[in-house]
Formats: sequence, structure tokens, C-alpha cells
Amino acid sequence: MTVTSREWRLVARPFGEPKPSDFEFATVTLADPAPGQVLVRNDWLSVDPYMRGRMNDVESYIPPFVLGEAMTGSAVGTVVASAAEGIPVGTTVSHFAGWREYALADAKAVQIVDTALAPAQAYLGVLGTTGLTAYAGLTEVAPVKEGDVVFISGAAGAVGSVAGQIAKKLGASRVIGSAGGPEKTARLLNEFGFDAAIDYREGDLYGELAAAAPDGIDVYFDNVGGDHLDAAITTMNLRGRIALCGAISAYNDTELPPGPRHLPLAIGKRINMRGMNVSDHYHQIPEWYGKAAAWIADGSLRTEETVFEGIDQALDAFTAMMAGANTGKMLVRLQHN
Ligand code: NAP
Repeated sequence: MTVTSREWRLVARPFGEPKPSDFEFATVTLADPAPGQVLVRNDWLSVDPYMRGRMNDVESYIPPFVLGEAMTGSAVGTVVASAAEGIPVGTTVSHFAGWREYALADAKAVQIVDTALAPAQAYLGVLGTTGLTAYAGLTEVAPVKEGDVVFISGAAGAVGSVAGQIAKKLGASRVIGSAGGPEKTARLLNEFGFDAAIDYREGDLYGELAAAAPDGIDVYFDNVGGDHLDAAITTMNLRGRIALCGAISAYNDTELPPGPRHLPLAIGKRINMRGMNVSDHYHQIPEWYGKAAAWIADGSLRTEETVFEGIDQALDAFTAMMAGANTGKMLVRLQHN
């Protein structure tokens, strides 16, 4: 069963915001699976902020994309040919060979997912590293205690929208979110159960955060960095906790951003500020799956998706996500004829 597959490759390292000429959309032909391999028809692709870092030639916790090769990332799909024991044709699997229509993968590189528990694409979002990041951040990195005031930036995004709801379930007395634009802030209040919402593109972030948190904040879940982190330090209570999850405001910067101006306040306030990587928290997967599946089933955990259609739209989906076009998880759906 020979298939042709279209895929996205990085061909030049972007300087600042990625531009179309940094990428190539190519077609390849895939052979039949060798013994121990499966051929997966990708149905859903994930586009994520960390992929911007992989476009730079910088060593990190995950290697940079290789120029001229298909980019990688999380995907879920259907096994259409199998030479691997225990993974029959028709099985739904998740794996890391995204950014392409079909993937030839070793059996050990794919995980069988339970579509009875949740739709396949949930394994790229709430039941994938996205949901786990939110849960780990608020339980192990910057644990929420009963009665805490919690602030979450990037709150209408994939991680942030789940984090806000988890904070409430962990006993937070007040959950404040920031996001770009009035539509998103309305959704924070009306759909995701936040108590207060700040449109960071309008007005004075420091003043609005202080007004939304008259008693200060105890926990900050940072998806954004920059002014958001600085405002959170300024507003934080004694012995506050900060989970440094992401700094998307700086991902396209061509120079290192200045550090938080109010960092010295962290000394007197005894703030515990911790960087996190979700890969340190895989031991929490069973615990998170159990809770998330129950909350999804009883309707108490709302998840949102923004979907772009077709492999040819994958790069646009990534760029749009970086610019804030998504609410909840940004996904690419591939429909095959
Ligand atoms: P996301 O929030 O669904 O999408 C990115 C969002 O970032 C956009 O929708 C946009 O929303 C916001 N944004 C873009 N530029 C911004 C800016 N200059 N200032 C403020 N907000 C900006 O993405 P996600 O997958 O859930 O990831 C959220 C963060 O978590 C990212 O920083 C990511 O790197 C991080 N992360 C970390 C880990 C880890 O292990 N440490 C794991 C997963 C994700 P607005 O419209 O609100 O601007």
C-alpha cells in the first residue's frame, strides 16, 4: 500500500516572526510498513507555541527542527497498514510525527488512545500534554491551596482555559484570567468560570490586576512572561507561588527581553518562582486522566477547540495561534478522500 503524503518542512531559521518562505510544503511517497512498523493516516495535528523555539538553532529540552526535513509534533490518527503485533488496522493512535498527512512509525513510537473515553483530538488537548501542563502547574509546581487567589495569563488558550477551571476545583476563592480582546474575556467569564477577566491589550495591566485582586494574588500561572510576570510579582502576596510555564510574549523576539522590573519584590515577599516542563510530570498522567475524564463526563470541565481544515492550512494555523486567533486548543483537522 504505497501512499503519497504532503508534509511541512522548515527550510530557513526564522528571524522574528516566521514568514512563509521559511517553510516548504512537499510531497513524499511512503513505503509499506517494515516489520514492527505501522502506517498512520493522521486525522488531527497539534500546533503549539513551543514549536517556535524549535525553529531556532538553539539547544533546549527538545532539539531544533532539522532544516529540510518534515517538522514534528503531536498528532493523532488511524492505523491504515500494520506490520506490528497488537496494533491492528483501524486503531487510533497518538504519536509525534505531525505536520504531515501520513506517518510511518515504529510501534514503540505510537500510543493507542481510547476513543470511548474522549474524541481522538482530546489527546492533543485536555487529555494530552496541554491538560497535564495545567494540572501539574497548579498541583506540583505552584500548588493551589483552599481559598487562594489565582491569576492565569493566556487564560483563553489551551493550557490557560483548563488551568482556570482546575484552580477553581482545587479550592481557589477567586480566579482571574487575562487574554487578548473583549470576546475572549467574555468567554473567560461566561464559559470557563473565571471570576474576573482582564483584556491585556486594553488599559493598564498592573492597575487592572490590582483592581481585580484587591487582596493580592497567591498563585500565578505564567503562560506569557514580560509585563504579565512583572505585574504578577507586583500584586503577589507573601509566600506566593509562580509557575513559569511559558513566555509567549517573547517567542518571536530577536533580542532577549528585559527581566521583570519588580523582581526584587520577590525577595521580601518570599515568592517561590519555579520553571516547569510538563515532561517532568508524566507520573501524574493516570491521576490527571482519571480526574479530567470524570469532569468532562459530568460536564464540569469545559474544553474549546479552534480548528483549521486541511494539511495545507497547518502553517496558517500555527501562525494564527501565535497571534491569538484561537480560543482553547488550536488544531488542524485532516480529511482524507
Ligand atoms: P495557547 O494559549 O492556546 O495559544 C497561544 C496564545 O498566546 C494565543 O492564543 C494568544 O492569546 C497568546 N499570546 C500570543 N502572543 C501574546 C503576547 N504577546 N502576550 C500575551 N499573550 C499572547 O497555547 P498553549 O499551547 O496553551 O500554551 C500556552 C503557554 O504554555 C505557552 O507559553 C507555551 O509555551 C506554554 N507551555 C508550556 C509547557 C511546559 O511544559 N512548560 C507545556 C505546554 C505549553 P491572546 O489572544 O490572549 O493574546
